[in-house]
This record gives sequence, C-alpha cells and structure tokens, in this order.
Amino acid sequence: MIRIGQGYDVHRLTEGRDLWLCGVKIPHSLGLLGHSDADVAIHALCDAILGALALGDIGKHFPDTDPKYKGIDSKLLLKHVIDLARDKGYTLGNADLTIMAQKPKLAPHIATMRETLSAICGVSIDRVSVKATTTERLGFEGREEGISSMAVVLMTRC
Ligand code: MG
Repeated sequence: MIRIGQGYDVHRLTEGRDLWLCGVKIPHSLGLLGHSDADVAIHALCDAILGALALGDIGKHFPDTDPKYKGIDSKLLLKHVIDLARDKGYTLGNADLTIMAQKPKLAPHIATMRETLSAICGVSIDRVSVKATTTERLGFEGREEGISSMAVVLMTRC
C-alpha cells in the first residue's frame, strides 16, 4: 500500500528575520516572514505528508492563531507530522522537494538540508531529494519578494 501527496507553500522575504530552509539556517540579508520560523520547504513537506494520508493541512494541525506555535522551529512540526503518519501505519518512502528562490545560492546547503530532513523523518538520506531553482528573475520569487517551495512524497506501509 502506497499513498502519494503533494505540498506547496510561499513565504514573504523581509529584513530582520533569519532564513530557514529545510531546517538549516542559511546566511542571507533577508529572512522569511511567518508565525513560525517560516521554513517554507518544511511546510511544503509537512503538507505533502498530511495530504498523502488525507489528514488535512499544516494550518489545521498548527494554527497560526495559536501562540504555542509562535516562532516555533519547523523541524518540530515535521517531527509531529511524521509521528502522526507512523500512528496511521505509514513511513516516508521518499520525498522530492523543489525550492524556488532567486537568492541566495542554495547549492552549498543542499547536502545539509537532505541530512537534516532524513534524520527527522527517520529514513536514509537517499530517500530525500532537495532541489533549488531560480525563476530567471520572473515573478515574486524572481523579484526576491518571497520564496516558494513544492514537495511530493510517497508514503509506504511500515
Ligand atoms: Mg508556511
């Protein structure tokens, strides 16, 4: 038994915030704005996992009106979602993420991102793919107004 899920998220770039992507703090002059640490890539991954199991979305599980989640490390949200999946009898088969960002260059951070995500998900690193692309200066990502992320997962019976 396998289940497929997809997730998408966007956060606005602003001054005075840290930039977190896939649980890794990336040195940059701008960071993402949000109620949590605004890790857009982890949020897309959480939504993909929840979607695969028809468990709703990240907004339902971690409402941004709840002070409990203010500034929260999104790695904790992912851990919670993985635990939920395991309770339902599913583990991560594989995940494939794409981050759309004009800047900064993410290539030097991809290995650490994959290590971080696979450790939280309790799977080997070869099951977790992270890719990054610019949008050729087009759209909100290209204008550096925000960063978006997409994720696809396959969940398998554990
Ligand atoms: Mg989000």
